[in-house]
Amino acid sequence: MGINIFWYKENKKKLDKSASNLTELNNDVQLCKKCALSSSRTNTVFGTGDNNAEIMIIGEAPGKDEDLKGEPFVGRAGKLLNEFLDSINLYRDNIFITNTVKCRPPENRNPETQEIKACAHYLDMQIKIINPKVIILLGKIAANRMLNEDKSIADLRGKKFFLQNHSIPVIVFYHPAYILRSPLQKYQVWQDLKFLKEILSSYVN
Ligand code: SF4
Repeated sequence: MGINIFWYKENKKKLDKSASNLTELNNDVQLCKKCALSSSRTNTVFGTGDNNAEIMIIGEAPGKDEDLKGEPFVGRAGKLLNEFLDSINLYRDNIFITNTVKCRPPENRNPETQEIKACAHYLDMQIKIINPKVIILLGKIAANRMLNEDKSIADLRGKKFFLQNHSIPVIVFYHPAYILRSPLQKYQVWQDLKFLKEILSSYVN
């Protein structure tokens, strides 16, 4: 019983610390004007989920629904992502989801390299504070920009990468928005999920 109380006190300190660090970081993001995306946003979209998640998902940029709500992946693509996660008993509340930039690019254009660079500090800090066991990059654009590559999605999926300054394995999934447009590719997501499970199980063995 004494050991359990000690464990709880020690871990509660860590949990409280990561929660307060993320809250402070979110406050900075809400005030941020480091790039031009600040002038057209309705809300910043910091990210949501478990502050101590084992899995962190990084998409490209907030869209219209996300900008209005201030939350990532709340539109149709977000619902499909939830379905994929549910199918292997992973729940969104246990995962941390964010994007490479925290403000919506106008007309949903791709974020520009200098915008991703301007926002990189926030993402870097999120990864450091959350310290997940695996990072999933959604889609070719986010993956190539984050990994500094120029590869097809076929060359990126099913492999383990590492981000500069981090030793956390990074894997690439099809973006759910692509699957909405190309539903026949849905079966490929099972391969992505299977690969994720393999990586997670390697921590148990
Ligand atoms: S996208 Fe990032 S760097 Fe640009 S204004 Fe928003 S929070 Fe700041």
